[in-house]
Amino acid sequence: MKDFSKYNTKELWNNDLKHNMHPFTDFSSFKKEGSLIMAESEGAYVFDTDGRKYLDGIAGLWCVNIGYGNEEMGQAMLDQTRRIPYYSSFGHLTTPPAVELSAKLASLAPKSLSHVFYGTGGSMSNDTAVRMVHFYFNRIGKPNKKQIITRTDGYHGSTYLSMTLTGVEYDHIGFDLAPDLVHRVSAPNVYRRPAGMTVPEYCDFLVNEVEQKILSIGPENVAMFVAEPIAGAGGVLVPPEGYHQRVAAVCKKYGVFILSDEVVTAFGRLGEMFSSEKIFGFTPDIITCAKGLTSGYIPLSANMISDEIYDVISVPQAEGASFTHGFTYSGHPVSCAVGLKNIEIMERIDLCGHVREVGKYFENQLIEKLSDLPLVGDVRGSHFMMCIESVANKETKELLDPNIAIGNRIADKCQAVGLLVRPLAHKNILSPPLTLTVAEVDFIVSTLHKAILDVQDDLV
Ligand code: PLP
Repeated sequence: MKDFSKYNTKELWNNDLKHNMHPFTDFSSFKKEGSLIMAESEGAYVFDTDGRKYLDGIAGLWCVNIGYGNEEMGQAMLDQTRRIPYYSSFGHLTTPPAVELSAKLASLAPKSLSHVFYGTGGSMSNDTAVRMVHFYFNRIGKPNKKQIITRTDGYHGSTYLSMTLTGVEYDHIGFDLAPDLVHRVSAPNVYRRPAGMTVPEYCDFLVNEVEQKILSIGPENVAMFVAEPIAGAGGVLVPPEGYHQRVAAVCKKYGVFILSDEVVTAFGRLGEMFSSEKIFGFTPDIITCAKGLTSGYIPLSANMISDEIYDVISVPQAEGASFTHGFTYSGHPVSCAVGLKNIEIMERIDLCGHVREVGKYFENQLIEKLSDLPLVGDVRGSHFMMCIESVANKETKELLDPNIAIGNRIADKCQAVGLLVRPLAHKNILSPPLTLTVAEVDFIVSTLHKAILDVQDDLV
């Protein structure tokens, strides 16, 4: 039995308001409403300080892939902490878990991406990718080849550089971006594609847009194209069939590297350890991953780097400088030991196989049971990465008045009966732990169904 008497909710709540500055927060409502404070967890469930139980339909933040409360993960942390809790990876130093995890990741990633560089989060790994690619082009004598193409509604993090890569406009309001670096092309938003265009025509349009963008900047100035296989935080945008392969061919034609941001899509969410090659049929030059790498139990990110890039950036420096990029916690032994254990567990229980079966059921059930509801414009996604987009009018796809805060209303109804779904303006995102059972899938679908109908009643 879990003991919640040890939590003083009121005191925690007050101190949180006073001292704990939350990321991605609307402080006007936060200052009125405070926080829901999660204290305990088990399987697919989390519990607040008062003992209320919630099925976590968002796996924390797309990350607790193997589910909560896994004792083996805790044991791996403890064992490694006892052996050696920290050592640097700078220069010629390393630790066994960092080496073993690198070899394991190289065996799982596309064959040409056999070099691993560690950080502690997705933003940092995307920042790292930009520095490496810029360094690469300096090394081969193309110092002007630095421009980057990213997509509207892509999300790549919130360091200065990774937020500049990010194309979600809402995230930029009031903040600055790094100047003169990033160019945008359209997100592959099939639901909101231009009226009258078929999906194959839309794919032609998107691929052509990338090519035209490269040509307008000048291929000699374009370093890389950055995209998520399925854009997550921008609203789970699944590209049209063949999109990634065709964009990759365009990039190859002009010597433009591809960074595939698999911070969400790697480690099983779509039923494969990495999705770029296995699901979408293209081989990037760099893959960034984080979140599911340790199932969120401890911070860790990894950049999978192609041999082509590594072979250039690892050549000894003529000027006597070294590869001056890295972090105190690059290759942290405890994080790497947890990453290894996480992958071992995933493989032992065939979590990817489970996702291909139950994740597909989740996807199909959401589409089947929710699509016809009057408020629902679109139900989209793949496996355990899904989104529901609400509209005022199904025909015209017109949005509801933002003041209605439809996403929040749906999320609040769900939360009241023990289900957490993520509101994002007029959308609700679902990215549950990958261990979800069929019964838990059914609970999510029926709870959402009722919540959406209840919200609809409230609006009339
Ligand atoms: N890339 C993608 C696709 C993400 O979804 C996120 C975070 O949600 C990031 C990068 C940034 O990762 P982090 O928050 O660990 O810095």
